[in-house]
Amino acid sequence: MKAKPMSLKPSPMAMVPFISVDNMMKLVNRVGVADMIAGIAAEIEADFKRWPEFDKTPRVPAHSDEGVIELMPTSDGVTYGFKYVNGHPANMARGYQTVTAFGLLARVDTGYPIMLSEMTVLTALRTAATSVVAAKYLAPQGAKTMALIGNGAQCEFQSLAFHKVLGIDTVQLYDIDPAATAKAAKNLADTGLTVVPCTSAQAAVTGADIITTCTADKQYATILTDNMVGAGQHINAIGGDCPGKTELHRDILLRSDIFVEYPPQTRIEGEIQQLDPDHPVTELWTVITGQNQGRRDSRQITLFDSVGFATEDFSALRYVHGLLQDHGTFEDLDMIADPDDPRDLFGMVQRAKGA
Ligand code: NAD
Repeated sequence: MKAKPMSLKPSPMAMVPFISVDNMMKLVNRVGVADMIAGIAAEIEADFKRWPEFDKTPRVPAHSDEGVIELMPTSDGVTYGFKYVNGHPANMARGYQTVTAFGLLARVDTGYPIMLSEMTVLTALRTAATSVVAAKYLAPQGAKTMALIGNGAQCEFQSLAFHKVLGIDTVQLYDIDPAATAKAAKNLADTGLTVVPCTSAQAAVTGADIITTCTADKQYATILTDNMVGAGQHINAIGGDCPGKTELHRDILLRSDIFVEYPPQTRIEGEIQQLDPDHPVTELWTVITGQNQGRRDSRQITLFDSVGFATEDFSALRYVHGLLQDHGTFEDLDMIADPDDPRDLFGMVQRAKGA
């Protein structure tokens, strides 16, 4: 079924709704973090179900020694979207975010933008939402405990997503920086989760049904070694998302059934960059549509090799767009030149001189 054109059209003045960080935080707090992640997860799952409708391409990166800046475009033929995002692991030491982002939606029929939004907060929500969509099909039944290694910006969003959508009741936290673990434990107090700070990655994964790795380091890191992963565990690996930036020992990959978003991108950026280019992987959308099986049995090790794909940002932007009319959490941005006579762009500039 073709998607309908987005209803929030540019006004006659061609103003574009803009969601600032301030307005995004207002929106998230009105809806509630966990409810918003659940809403975005539903949108992401629905879009995975209509995967063939999307234009897909690996994201376009600009690498440097310090990090990467990427553009992530997609379209369903009716609406076009893109995200600008960076990944700079050394930023934290400078007092900056590792990941920042903004994104845009536009109508395909006119090419006019219909929304511009901050996406640093929204990326954390959509990454957590994608993780739970995958885990719904891959995690062991009745999972209650999750290890979270890397307690930075993504950590609490991941924790709340798994609590809300999958019924996880305990998170075992570990970070090489105890201050990060203390921050996450404080933020997660009073959420209904039992929070267990751990002093090693080994302690964090012990007894966990799900292991989420969300560390940031621009190297082939080994956050998990083979002996740390047992039969039946589900690994939600989100920090290995760039060439030369991985988190898992290769031997874990060889023991796991691996699920990915979009193979042409994941083979470049994901954990599977460590494997042969034809190593078998399963596309998540085919599990969601029932064409392939997710978890088969209770002893299987499942790995969601998450890198983040453009359709997930598109889904998140559409979800936010759908809330704007009710919540009014946007301001109009004068970003499209709109002369009365479309051919008289020059005249419009001249008249502005006199005004
Ligand atoms: P962040 O910098 O805020 O936090 C990363 C944390 O990892 C820090 O607290 C750091 O101390 C910790 N860490 C680093 N090395 C570690 C190690 N060896 N063991 C334990 N902890 C370690 O970053 P973030 O915004 O939380 O992002 C985390 C990772 O997820 C990044 O690599 C980012 O690129 C990635 N990411 C992926 C997606 C996706 O869709 N897959 C989306 C967003 C972010």
